[in-house]
Amino acid sequence: MAHIFCVANQKGGVGKTTTTVNLCAGLAGLGQRVLMVDLDPQGNATMGSGVDKRKLELSVYEVLLEAVEVSQAKTRSHWGDSASYQKHPTYDVLGASRELAGAELELVNMPRREKRLKEALLAVEKDYDFILIDCPPSLSLLTLNGLCSANGVIVPMQCEYFALEGLTDLVNTIKQVHANLNKELKIIGLLRVMFDPRVSLQVQVSDQLKAHFADKVFNAVIPRNVRLAEAPSFGLPGVVYDPAAKGSVAFIAFAQEMIDRIKKL
Ligand code: ATP
Ligand code: MG
Repeated sequence: MAHIFCVANQKGGVGKTTTTVNLCAGLAGLGQRVLMVDLDPQGNATMGSGVDKRKLELSVYEVLLEAVEVSQAKTRSHWGDSASYQKHPTYDVLGASRELAGAELELVNMPRREKRLKEALLAVEKDYDFILIDCPPSLSLLTLNGLCSANGVIVPMQCEYFALEGLTDLVNTIKQVHANLNKELKIIGLLRVMFDPRVSLQVQVSDQLKAHFADKVFNAVIPRNVRLAEAPSFGLPGVVYDPAAKGSVAFIAFAQEMIDRIKKL
């Protein structure tokens, strides 16, 4: 059975999508069978996996409306024509199109509105080692569908002053979902991203995180690295675009840490 993890943080621009696509590509590179689910109407994880959201005929939107099955709506990440990119293994993509923005309102009056993704994934979870869900920057009904589907949450965060405050809100939401909707949900770990060790405040916040959350903080640390920021403009995860870049090396180490960590779950 797949390990189903949400990549979530209600704060915007903290590195959720970068984490999702690079972890998917990193895990695929380590021989894992991976499905990426893009729950964000921005569709960044879809585009960053080389899938054009404007040309998607079926997406997670139709799955949430129960019009189609995941197996019909899924497509495959695509690395373009360059031979060096094509060597990198691909993963399945349940993409997001712009219509997903409307799903929020449409779902409100539907039965089992927060469990629809969970029920849809039941049919395919045996086909994968990992299903990773990229959540939008909110605690919306879409994010709730992600949290209800998952066994765990991966929280990317920047080591900044307000980061700890935001974390309290997210931890409370996860506790509520755990108590009311999904008994399996837990925090898998906190991932320090866009880290710059030259900034002493970041080092301090990182130390505070380790003091509060101990082994819930992943050992891997993702540095601020321009190659990771460039990669999406080519429709590629950083680990495919430039596997030797510092940020990519860190994501590959993170993927290996994830494989090691799930053995202990
Ligand atoms: P949103 O909340 O809008 O969905 P997000 O949390 O998914 O945002 P990303 O889109 O992953 O965040 O990252 C925000 C921006 O920071 C992007 O331009 C991305 O390329 C850049 N970025 C992410 N991680 C890094 C990094 N380690 N080094 C440099 N740039 C990064
Ligand atoms: Mg995002």
